[in-house]
Amino acid sequence: MNMITKELHTEVNKRRTFAIISHPDAGKTTITEKLLLLGQAIQRAGSVKGRGSDQHAKSDWMEMEKQRGISITTSVMQFPYQEYLVNLLDTPGHEDFSEDTYRTLTAVDSCLMVIDTAKGVEDRTRKLMEVTRLRDTPIVTFMNKLDREIRDPMEVMDEVERELNIACAPITWPISCGKSFKGVYHLHLDEVYLYQTGKGHMIQEKRVIKGLNNTELDKEIGEDLAAQLRDELELVKGASHEFDLEAFLQGELTPVYFGTALGNFGVDLMLDGLVSWAPSPSPRNSDVRVVTAADEKFSGFVFKIQANMDPKHRDRVAFLRIVSGKYERGMKMRQVRTNKDVVISDALTFLAGDREHIEQAYAGDIIGLHNHGTIQIGDTFTQGETLKFTGIPNFAPELFRRIRLRDPLKQKQLLKGLVQLSEEGAVQVFRPLISNDLIVGAVGTLQFDVVVSRLKNEYNVEAIYEPINVATARWVSSDDTKKFEEFKRKAESQLALDGGDNLTYIAPTMVNLNLTQERYPEVTFFKTREH
Ligand code: GDP
Repeated sequence: MNMITKELHTEVNKRRTFAIISHPDAGKTTITEKLLLLGQAIQRAGSVKGRGSDQHAKSDWMEMEKQRGISITTSVMQFPYQEYLVNLLDTPGHEDFSEDTYRTLTAVDSCLMVIDTAKGVEDRTRKLMEVTRLRDTPIVTFMNKLDREIRDPMEVMDEVERELNIACAPITWPISCGKSFKGVYHLHLDEVYLYQTGKGHMIQEKRVIKGLNNTELDKEIGEDLAAQLRDELELVKGASHEFDLEAFLQGELTPVYFGTALGNFGVDLMLDGLVSWAPSPSPRNSDVRVVTAADEKFSGFVFKIQANMDPKHRDRVAFLRIVSGKYERGMKMRQVRTNKDVVISDALTFLAGDREHIEQAYAGDIIGLHNHGTIQIGDTFTQGETLKFTGIPNFAPELFRRIRLRDPLKQKQLLKGLVQLSEEGAVQVFRPLISNDLIVGAVGTLQFDVVVSRLKNEYNVEAIYEPINVATARWVSSDDTKKFEEFKRKAESQLALDGGDNLTYIAPTMVNLNLTQERYPEVTFFKTREH
């Protein structure tokens, strides 16, 4: 091995790049805070969202972001843990849920699924899990809020298995819950970890009892509870799956941890499992070859563009996931789509939420490139090689509105603005074949407001929305030219072109979509579309 190959292997092997998937309020923000605390990236937990703190004053967030007190943007956090370097990609949730949330999941190598154990599997988690299936991403599970009255843990695991179609292998098991929550038993280490209340904001000294049959346990949690735990574990071991690394890496089995993010309990055990089992930066498919992380030459793809981080400068940042090689300040990169070489001297990194200039970064890391409108979602950058990464799709929008101008003379600007915003991945735009309507489609509602505000500021166009009766959209194609022509004739009133002139079926209802699919089996209806 030469020096550079050796360096790349070392750097790649210690990286773990993941994102959190969860339903709003399950505890994603809280667990993120504790992860950063564990990484010693922040001294005290409690400053990620910066509720009421001066966090927002530090950067010129978009006006709307300030008003709503939420973060519209996906941020990236890097922190060391043990001998590893963790990249945690934040997935926008709540109202700021958008296509970016989905696409972020294409830029990670594993995911942490956080479940509110009082509630079980919820809607948003189902959707996000569906996206992770596109790449069979390995999933680690954290069952949260054990300091509350939760549902029967066995029942919640069954629900995960049934509804998300993934086998569960408990690694820790809870000892009671709510007010009488005592801690967790670690099935692999045969150790009991005792819960201490009121220490959620700090790194705790662990209180450990070695061995399930240790009489210390009876003294600590009482004989009855200890006996109950021993019985329960017999059952659990019999009824659940054992951890299997291969099945985990295939996305077929998830290791399950219990704890409380708020109490900062059990999170460290979960992170120990994640860093040791989750894959290091994985190979990616391109149109010409599979690119592996330790390939010497730099390559990467853009999965997100964040607009207006600083409105004064019209500053847009393109988030690039490094697939192979090493970024060094001042290096030359080729933007493959435009075949242009650019010198990158000021890429950004996102150490614990702060944007900082970096000297170097490796496969698995995310860097931010300054962008004056020339970079698009899905763009590949290389060190000269002509290849394009695949698997960074558009996702069928779930919300639709008709957009209309206040000043009808500005139709051209409106279309231009919408097409550019859709290239950036902010929303999608559809033009029905039989009318002059413009339909905007998004995955989350906030994107509609973002579009109107950006149209006004950047394109000087005042637009408003009207409701429209659309349930979903599907990109369509077929190998059977004759049947496809017939389909296009008969379904013309439901067909539209998207921002990239791709044919799309706009379904007024899900029933209509199902019927149409049954009627035209030769036509394929796609939920995602590659750039
Ligand atoms: P997100 O929407 O998924 O980011 O959820 P947050 O982290 O903002 O948490 C939602 C609410 O649940 C907040 O009020 C948290 O304080 C609370 N929460 C998070 N984790 C726990 C936990 O382990 N126990 C309890 N009791 N509350 C929690």
